[in-house]
Amino acid sequence: MVVVLKPNTPIEKRNALIAEIESMGVTVQVTEGTETSILGLIGDTTHINQFRISSNEIVANILRVQEPFKKANKMFKPEDTIIEVNGRKIGEGYFSVITGPCSVESEEQIESIAEEVKKNGATFLRGGAYKPRTSPYAFQGLGLEGLEYLKHAREKTGLPIVSEIMSPDMVERFVEDVDIIQVGARNMQNFVLLKELGKTRKPILLKRGLSATIEEWLMSAEYILNEGNEQIILCERGIRTFETYTRNTLDLSSVLAVKKLSHLPVIVDPSHGTGKAWMVEAMSKAAVVAGADGVIIEVHNNPARALCDGQQSITPSQFSQLMDKLKKLIEIEGKKLEG
Ligand code: PEP
Ligand code: MN
Repeated sequence: MVVVLKPNTPIEKRNALIAEIESMGVTVQVTEGTETSILGLIGDTTHINQFRISSNEIVANILRVQEPFKKANKMFKPEDTIIEVNGRKIGEGYFSVITGPCSVESEEQIESIAEEVKKNGATFLRGGAYKPRTSPYAFQGLGLEGLEYLKHAREKTGLPIVSEIMSPDMVERFVEDVDIIQVGARNMQNFVLLKELGKTRKPILLKRGLSATIEEWLMSAEYILNEGNEQIILCERGIRTFETYTRNTLDLSSVLAVKKLSHLPVIVDPSHGTGKAWMVEAMSKAAVVAGADGVIIEVHNNPARALCDGQQSITPSQFSQLMDKLKKLIEIEGKKLEG
C-alpha cells in the first residue's frame, strides 16, 4: 500500500501519521518527490484500516500495491534511480557500455583489451575472476590474481571495473577491489549472498536468473534493497526456453516491463543472451531502442582461443564498428553515453 501525501504537508503532521500507521504493525518507507511525499507501507497490510488513513487531512490518495516487490516498485519510488560510479551515471537518461572478456586470463590480456575498448567508447571494464562453469573441469578463473590484474587495468585506463562474486565470504574483498559487483544468473536466488550484498553500499549488477520470471528477478532485487542497499542495476541476459539455436532467448521485452514496474536501471547482455558473436551488434542496437540503460558485451582479443565464451565474444575492432552505430542510436534516443 502506498499513501500519497498532499503537497507541502507540515513535517509534524507527517511524522504523526507515520507513527499511527506503524502502530498498525507495518513499517513505512518515505520517498520525497519534487512535489509530494509518498509513504510506502511494508509488511502485512491486509489488516490496515484504509479509511482511518484516508480520513487524515494530509492524505491525497491511497494506492494498493498488487506486486510482492515493494522497495523495487515504481509506485513506492516514482523517480528513476540513478547510480553514480566514479563519476559515471547509470540509469534513465544515460547509456553505459560495460565491456571486456568473459574471464581475465592474464595481465597482458586484460590490459590490452581495456586499452582497446576504452579508445572505442566503453564506459566500464568487465572481467570474470571467479567463473561459474557448468563443468568442474573447465577453466574456473584466476581468482584473486584475476582481481589484481583487473585493478591494474583500471589504473592504466581509468575504467571502473565490474566482476562477478560467487560466495558471501568474498563480499569484503569485492567491496574493496571492484566498482560494481556482479551477481551472475546462477546466483540470482542465492539469498544469503544477496542479503550480504544488501548490507554494503556498493553498486550491484543483478543478472536475471537462467529461468527466472520478471517478478522473481525483482524479488531478488528486493532482498538487496531490504537490507538498505539501493544501488542495483538489473541485467537481462536471456532466459532458458525450448529454443536451442541460440544459447538463451534474449527477452528484450523484459526491459519494457522492468521500466514500467520498477525505478531501477536495467541493462542488456547480448553476449550471453544469444551465445553468438554475430548477433551481438544487432541485439545491442535493439537494446538501445527497447529503452535499456546500457549493455554489457564480451570482447576478446582472440575469441578462438578464449578460455571461456569465445563463440559469443567479439573482437575489439568489431566492438569499434558496433560503437559507431550505437552512438547514433543513443543520440536518437536522447541519452548520454557516459564516460
Ligand atoms: C558472465 O557474465 O560471464 C556470466 C557468467 O554471465 P551469466 O551469469 O549471465 O551467465
Ligand atoms: Mn561469459
